[in-house]
Amino acid sequence: MKTKVCLSVDTEFSIGGAFIDTRNVPIAEKRVWCDVEGKSEGLGFILDCLERHRITATFFVEALQQHYFKHDPMAPIAQRLHGAGHEVQLHVHPCWHLFQHEDWKERLGQKSRVDAFFGRDEDESLALIQDAMAIFAGWGIPAPTVFRSASLQHDAALYRATARAGIPYSSNIGVAIFDSGDPDYKLYGGRHLRHGVIECPILTFSDWDMFGKQHLKTLTITGTSFAETRTLLERAQRAGIEQVVILTHPFEYVQCGDFTMREMRRNRLNQRRLEQVAAYLDARRDLFDTCGIGAAASMPMAATSANNALLKGRLLQALPRMASQYAYERYGKWQLARMARQPRPVAAGTAPIADLA
Ligand SMILES: [Zn+2]
Repeated sequence: MKTKVCLSVDTEFSIGGAFIDTRNVPIAEKRVWCDVEGKSEGLGFILDCLERHRITATFFVEALQQHYFKHDPMAPIAQRLHGAGHEVQLHVHPCWHLFQHEDWKERLGQKSRVDAFFGRDEDESLALIQDAMAIFAGWGIPAPTVFRSASLQHDAALYRATARAGIPYSSNIGVAIFDSGDPDYKLYGGRHLRHGVIECPILTFSDWDMFGKQHLKTLTITGTSFAETRTLLERAQRAGIEQVVILTHPFEYVQCGDFTMREMRRNRLNQRRLEQVAAYLDARRDLFDTCGIGAAASMPMAATSANNALLKGRLLQALPRMASQYAYERYGKWQLARMARQPRPVAAGTAPIADLA
Protein backbone atom coordinates (compact mmCIF):
# COMPACT_ATOMS: atom_id res chain seq x y z
CA MET A 1 0.00 0.00 0.00
CA LYS A 2 1.26 3.46 -0.89
CA THR A 3 1.27 6.03 1.88
CA LYS A 4 -0.45 9.29 1.02
CA VAL A 5 1.64 12.35 1.85
CA CYS A 6 -0.23 15.60 2.29
CA LEU A 7 1.85 18.74 2.47
CA SER A 8 -0.25 21.45 4.12
CA VAL A 9 0.54 25.16 3.97
CA ASP A 10 -1.19 27.57 6.37
CA THR A 11 -1.54 30.73 4.32
CA GLU A 12 -2.36 33.74 6.46
CA PHE A 13 -1.72 37.38 7.13
CA SER A 14 -0.19 38.69 10.34
CA ILE A 15 -1.53 40.85 13.13
CA GLY A 16 1.93 42.44 12.97
CA GLY A 17 2.10 43.17 16.66
CA ALA A 18 -1.07 45.34 16.64
CA PHE A 19 -2.45 43.55 19.69
CA ILE A 20 0.74 44.24 21.66
CA ASP A 21 0.99 47.88 20.61
CA THR A 22 -1.97 49.33 18.71
CA ARG A 23 0.39 51.71 16.83
CA ASN A 24 1.57 48.61 14.91
CA VAL A 25 -0.52 47.55 11.93
CA PRO A 26 -1.34 44.14 10.46
CA ILE A 27 0.64 42.86 7.48
CA ALA A 28 -1.04 41.41 4.39
CA GLU A 29 0.59 40.10 1.19
CA LYS A 30 4.12 40.66 2.45
CA ARG A 31 3.55 37.90 5.04
CA VAL A 32 2.58 35.46 2.28
CA TRP A 33 4.79 36.30 -0.70
CA CYS A 34 7.80 37.33 1.41
CA ASP A 35 9.56 39.24 -1.38
CA VAL A 36 13.32 39.64 -0.98
CA GLU A 37 15.05 41.76 -3.61
CA GLY A 38 12.06 41.47 -5.92
CA LYS A 39 11.71 37.67 -5.66
CA SER A 40 9.02 35.80 -3.71
CA GLU A 41 10.94 33.62 -1.27
CA GLY A 42 7.71 32.55 0.52
CA LEU A 43 4.65 31.40 -1.40
CA GLY A 44 6.35 31.93 -4.77
CA PHE A 45 9.20 29.63 -3.74
CA ILE A 46 6.74 26.97 -2.48
CA LEU A 47 4.63 27.04 -5.65
CA ASP A 48 7.68 26.80 -7.87
CA CYS A 49 9.08 23.88 -5.86
CA LEU A 50 5.76 21.98 -5.94
CA GLU A 51 5.36 22.53 -9.67
CA ARG A 52 8.87 21.30 -10.47
CA HIS A 53 8.19 18.12 -8.51
CA ARG A 54 4.55 17.68 -9.63
CA ILE A 55 3.14 17.76 -6.12
CA THR A 56 -0.43 18.71 -5.19
CA ALA A 57 -0.61 20.36 -1.76
CA THR A 58 -3.31 21.69 0.55
CA PHE A 59 -3.35 25.40 1.29
CA PHE A 60 -5.33 26.36 4.39
CA VAL A 61 -6.23 29.93 3.58
CA GLU A 62 -7.28 32.26 6.39
CA ALA A 63 -10.54 34.07 5.60
CA LEU A 64 -11.47 36.30 8.55
CA GLN A 65 -8.60 38.71 7.74
CA GLN A 66 -11.13 40.40 5.46
CA HIS A 67 -12.57 42.15 8.52
CA TYR A 68 -9.37 44.19 8.60
CA PHE A 69 -8.28 44.15 4.94
CA LYS A 70 -11.62 45.21 3.44
CA HIS A 71 -10.25 45.03 -0.12
CA ASP A 72 -9.58 41.32 0.55
CA PRO A 73 -6.05 40.83 -0.82
CA MET A 74 -6.38 37.12 0.03
CA ALA A 75 -8.92 36.61 -2.80
CA PRO A 76 -6.36 36.68 -5.67
CA ILE A 77 -4.01 34.49 -3.63
CA ALA A 78 -6.71 31.84 -3.08
CA GLN A 79 -7.67 32.01 -6.75
CA ARG A 80 -4.07 31.59 -7.85
CA LEU A 81 -3.60 28.55 -5.60
CA HIS A 82 -6.77 26.98 -6.96
CA GLY A 83 -5.68 27.81 -10.52
CA ALA A 84 -2.35 26.03 -9.89
CA GLY A 85 -4.30 22.83 -9.15
CA HIS A 86 -3.87 22.75 -5.37
CA GLU A 87 -6.56 22.19 -2.76
CA VAL A 88 -7.67 25.43 -1.13
CA GLN A 89 -9.18 24.77 2.29
CA LEU A 90 -10.37 26.88 5.20
CA HIS A 91 -8.17 28.27 7.98
CA VAL A 92 -9.71 30.51 10.63
CA HIS A 93 -8.07 32.83 13.15
CA PRO A 94 -10.87 34.25 15.36
CA CYS A 95 -8.74 37.31 16.28
CA TRP A 96 -9.48 39.01 12.93
CA HIS A 97 -13.16 39.03 13.83
CA LEU A 98 -12.46 41.74 16.36
CA PHE A 99 -11.76 44.27 13.59
CA GLN A 100 -15.40 44.31 12.53
CA HIS A 101 -15.98 46.50 15.59
CA GLU A 102 -15.00 50.18 15.52
CA ASP A 103 -14.02 49.91 19.19
CA TRP A 104 -11.78 46.84 18.71
CA LYS A 105 -9.02 48.33 20.85
CA GLU A 106 -11.32 48.54 23.87
CA ARG A 107 -12.73 45.07 23.23
CA LEU A 108 -9.20 43.65 22.97
CA GLY A 109 -8.57 44.66 26.56
CA GLN A 110 -11.57 42.65 27.76
CA LYS A 111 -10.71 39.43 25.95
CA SER A 112 -7.60 37.54 26.93
CA ARG A 113 -8.08 34.61 24.57
CA VAL A 114 -9.14 36.44 21.46
CA ASP A 115 -7.66 33.90 19.01
CA ALA A 116 -8.61 30.72 20.87
CA PHE A 117 -10.99 28.03 19.69
CA PHE A 118 -10.24 25.87 22.73
CA GLY A 119 -12.89 26.55 25.36
CA ARG A 120 -15.01 28.64 23.02
CA ASP A 121 -18.76 28.19 23.06
CA GLU A 122 -19.97 25.86 20.27
CA ASP A 123 -22.45 28.38 18.80
CA GLU A 124 -19.77 31.07 18.79
CA SER A 125 -17.32 28.76 16.97
CA LEU A 126 -20.05 27.89 14.48
CA ALA A 127 -20.76 31.59 13.80
CA LEU A 128 -17.03 32.24 13.19
CA ILE A 129 -16.75 29.29 10.79
CA GLN A 130 -19.89 30.32 8.92
CA ASP A 131 -18.65 33.90 8.66
CA ALA A 132 -15.33 32.65 7.25
CA MET A 133 -17.16 30.34 4.82
CA ALA A 134 -19.19 33.30 3.49
CA ILE A 135 -15.95 35.24 2.81
CA PHE A 136 -14.41 32.12 1.22
CA ALA A 137 -17.51 31.75 -1.03
CA GLY A 138 -16.83 35.26 -2.34
CA TRP A 139 -13.51 34.08 -3.76
CA GLY A 140 -15.32 32.09 -6.46
CA ILE A 141 -13.50 28.81 -5.85
CA PRO A 142 -14.95 25.45 -4.72
CA ALA A 143 -16.26 25.44 -1.13
CA PRO A 144 -13.85 24.05 1.49
CA THR A 145 -14.17 20.46 2.68
CA VAL A 146 -11.39 20.58 5.31
CA PHE A 147 -11.08 22.93 8.30
CA ARG A 148 -7.93 23.93 10.18
CA SER A 149 -8.18 25.98 13.36
CA ALA A 150 -5.93 28.80 14.59
CA SER A 151 -2.76 27.48 16.25
CA LEU A 152 -4.24 23.96 16.01
CA GLN A 153 -6.49 24.63 19.01
CA HIS A 154 -9.46 22.32 19.28
CA ASP A 155 -12.00 20.71 21.58
CA ALA A 156 -15.14 18.63 21.18
CA ALA A 157 -17.29 21.77 20.75
CA LEU A 158 -15.21 22.83 17.73
CA TYR A 159 -15.75 19.45 16.05
CA ARG A 160 -19.51 19.68 16.66
CA ALA A 161 -19.51 23.24 15.25
CA THR A 162 -17.51 22.11 12.18
CA ALA A 163 -20.02 19.30 11.52
CA ARG A 164 -22.92 21.75 11.88
CA ALA A 165 -21.23 24.09 9.37
CA GLY A 166 -21.28 21.20 6.87
CA ILE A 167 -17.49 20.71 6.69
CA PRO A 168 -16.80 16.95 6.72
CA TYR A 169 -13.03 16.87 7.42
CA SER A 170 -10.50 18.65 9.61
CA SER A 171 -6.78 18.80 10.30
CA ASN A 172 -6.67 20.54 13.67
CA ILE A 173 -4.31 18.33 15.62
CA GLY A 174 -0.53 18.45 16.09
CA VAL A 175 -0.04 17.05 19.58
CA ALA A 176 3.38 18.66 20.13
CA ILE A 177 2.00 22.08 19.13
CA PHE A 178 -1.27 22.04 21.06
CA ASP A 179 -2.31 19.35 23.52
CA SER A 180 -5.77 19.90 25.02
CA GLY A 181 -5.11 17.22 27.65
CA ASP A 182 -8.11 15.24 26.42
CA PRO A 183 -6.90 11.69 25.56
CA ASP A 184 -9.56 11.48 22.82
CA TYR A 185 -7.57 14.04 20.86
CA LYS A 186 -4.06 12.70 21.45
CA LEU A 187 -3.87 11.71 17.81
CA TYR A 188 -0.46 11.19 16.21
CA GLY A 189 -1.60 10.36 12.68
CA GLY A 190 -4.19 8.41 10.70
CA ARG A 191 -7.88 9.35 10.32
CA HIS A 192 -10.35 9.54 13.18
CA LEU A 193 -14.05 10.29 13.38
CA ARG A 194 -14.86 12.90 16.04
CA HIS A 195 -18.42 14.27 16.41
CA GLY A 196 -19.26 13.76 12.74
CA VAL A 197 -15.95 15.10 11.37
CA ILE A 198 -13.04 12.99 10.09
CA GLU A 199 -9.86 14.41 11.64
CA CYS A 200 -6.55 14.03 9.78
CA PRO A 201 -3.86 15.06 12.29
CA ILE A 202 -0.48 16.46 11.33
CA LEU A 203 2.00 13.66 12.09
CA THR A 204 3.45 13.78 15.59
CA PHE A 205 6.48 11.59 16.31
CA SER A 206 9.05 11.06 19.03
CA ASP A 207 12.34 12.63 17.92
CA TRP A 208 14.26 11.46 21.00
CA ASP A 209 13.78 9.23 23.96
CA MET A 210 16.28 9.44 26.83
CA PHE A 211 16.36 8.65 30.55
CA GLY A 212 12.72 7.60 30.45
CA LYS A 213 11.60 10.85 28.85
CA GLN A 214 9.99 10.77 25.42
CA HIS A 215 10.08 14.04 23.49
CA LEU A 216 7.30 14.67 20.97
CA LYS A 217 7.57 16.71 17.79
CA THR A 218 4.99 17.56 15.15
CA LEU A 219 6.22 17.17 11.57
CA THR A 220 7.02 20.59 10.10
CA ILE A 221 9.54 21.70 7.53
CA THR A 222 10.94 24.35 9.85
CA GLY A 223 11.47 21.94 12.76
CA THR A 224 12.54 18.72 11.06
CA SER A 225 15.54 17.96 8.88
CA PHE A 226 15.18 16.15 5.57
CA ALA A 227 17.01 13.10 6.97
CA GLU A 228 14.47 12.87 9.82
CA THR A 229 11.48 13.38 7.48
CA ARG A 230 12.75 10.66 5.14
CA THR A 231 13.20 8.24 8.05
CA LEU A 232 9.65 8.95 9.23
CA LEU A 233 8.15 8.57 5.76
CA GLU A 234 9.94 5.23 5.29
CA ARG A 235 8.81 4.01 8.71
CA ALA A 236 5.23 5.16 8.09
CA GLN A 237 5.22 3.31 4.80
CA ARG A 238 6.59 0.11 6.33
CA ALA A 239 4.10 0.34 9.23
CA GLY A 240 1.19 0.58 6.76
CA ILE A 241 0.20 4.08 7.93
CA GLU A 242 -2.18 5.31 5.27
CA GLN A 243 -1.33 9.03 5.34
CA VAL A 244 1.18 11.52 6.65
CA VAL A 245 0.31 15.21 6.97
CA ILE A 246 3.18 17.75 7.05
CA LEU A 247 2.80 21.40 8.14
CA THR A 248 4.49 24.47 6.76
CA HIS A 249 3.88 28.24 6.28
CA PRO A 250 5.13 30.61 3.53
CA PHE A 251 7.01 32.78 6.06
CA GLU A 252 9.17 29.82 7.13
CA TYR A 253 11.22 30.35 3.97
CA VAL A 254 12.50 33.75 5.08
CA GLN A 255 14.19 34.99 8.23
CA CYS A 256 12.83 38.24 9.68
CA GLY A 257 14.32 40.76 12.08
CA ASP A 258 11.02 41.01 13.97
CA PHE A 259 7.25 40.81 13.44
CA THR A 260 7.22 44.00 11.34
CA MET A 261 9.19 42.08 8.63
CA ARG A 262 11.19 45.22 7.87
CA GLU A 263 14.41 43.24 7.55
CA MET A 264 14.03 39.98 5.71
CA ARG A 265 16.36 37.46 4.10
CA ARG A 266 15.94 34.13 2.40
CA ASN A 267 15.93 31.07 4.71
CA ARG A 268 18.18 28.74 2.76
CA LEU A 269 18.01 25.98 5.38
CA ASN A 270 14.22 25.61 5.15
CA GLN A 271 14.16 26.12 1.38
CA ARG A 272 16.67 23.29 0.99
CA ARG A 273 14.56 21.04 3.26
CA LEU A 274 11.37 21.57 1.24
CA GLU A 275 13.27 21.06 -1.99
CA GLN A 276 14.73 17.78 -0.68
CA VAL A 277 11.37 16.48 0.63
CA ALA A 278 9.62 17.36 -2.66
CA ALA A 279 12.38 15.76 -4.77
CA TYR A 280 12.27 12.61 -2.62
CA LEU A 281 8.49 12.28 -2.90
CA ASP A 282 8.74 12.85 -6.65
CA ALA A 283 11.39 10.14 -6.98
CA ARG A 284 9.58 7.60 -4.76
CA ARG A 285 6.15 7.54 -6.35
CA ASP A 286 6.36 3.75 -6.02
CA LEU A 287 5.98 4.20 -2.22
CA PHE A 288 4.10 7.49 -1.84
CA ASP A 289 1.15 9.33 -3.34
CA THR A 290 1.13 13.08 -2.86
CA CYS A 291 -2.36 14.55 -2.70
CA GLY A 292 -4.57 17.08 -0.94
CA ILE A 293 -6.01 16.36 2.52
CA GLY A 294 -9.58 16.60 1.19
CA ALA A 295 -8.81 13.88 -1.37
CA ALA A 296 -7.09 11.66 1.21
CA ALA A 297 -9.80 12.19 3.85
CA SER A 298 -12.62 11.29 1.47
CA MET A 299 -11.32 7.76 0.81
CA PRO A 300 -13.45 5.01 2.40
CA MET A 301 -12.37 4.36 6.00
CA ALA A 302 -10.46 1.09 6.41
CA ALA A 303 -9.77 -1.00 9.51
CA THR A 304 -6.28 0.52 9.68
CA SER A 305 -7.37 4.16 9.20
CA ALA A 306 -7.59 4.88 12.92
CA ASN A 307 -4.10 3.44 13.56
CA ASN A 308 -2.63 5.88 16.11
CA ALA A 309 0.93 4.55 16.23
CA LEU A 310 3.61 6.93 17.50
CA LEU A 311 6.51 6.77 15.06
CA LYS A 312 10.04 7.21 16.34
CA GLY A 313 12.77 9.26 14.74
CA ARG A 314 16.50 8.76 15.27
CA LEU A 315 18.42 10.63 17.95
CA LEU A 316 21.48 10.59 15.68
CA GLN A 317 19.47 12.62 13.16
CA ALA A 318 17.80 14.90 15.74
CA LEU A 319 21.10 16.09 17.25
CA PRO A 320 22.68 17.43 14.02
CA ARG A 321 19.34 19.05 13.15
CA MET A 322 19.30 20.91 16.48
CA ALA A 323 22.90 22.05 15.98
CA SER A 324 22.47 23.24 12.38
CA GLN A 325 19.19 24.98 13.19
CA TYR A 326 20.74 26.81 16.14
CA ALA A 327 23.77 27.88 14.10
CA TYR A 328 21.68 29.03 11.14
CA GLU A 329 19.29 31.03 13.34
CA ARG A 330 22.23 32.74 15.08
CA TYR A 331 23.84 33.54 11.73
CA GLY A 332 20.50 34.86 10.37
CA LYS A 333 19.99 37.13 13.39
CA TRP A 334 23.48 38.55 12.96
CA GLN A 335 22.88 39.24 9.25
CA LEU A 336 19.46 40.81 9.95
CA ALA A 337 20.94 43.05 12.65
CA ARG A 338 23.56 44.23 10.12
CA MET A 339 20.80 44.95 7.59
CA ALA A 340 18.86 46.95 10.20
CA ARG A 341 21.89 49.21 10.77
CA GLN A 342 22.34 49.98 7.08
CA PRO A 343 20.56 53.01 5.56
CA ARG A 344 18.15 51.83 2.86
CA PRO A 345 16.58 53.77 0.01
CA VAL A 346 12.76 53.81 0.04
CA ALA A 347 11.76 51.91 -3.08
CA ALA A 348 9.13 49.39 -4.18
CA GLY A 349 9.07 46.48 -1.74
CA THR A 350 10.72 48.45 1.03
CA ALA A 351 7.81 50.76 1.77
CA PRO A 352 6.99 51.37 5.43
CA ILE A 353 4.75 48.66 6.81
CA ALA A 354 1.95 51.18 7.40
CA ASP A 355 1.57 51.53 3.62
CA LEU A 356 0.65 47.87 3.29
CA ALA A 357 -2.40 47.93 5.52
ZN1 LIG B 1 -2.71 30.07 11.40
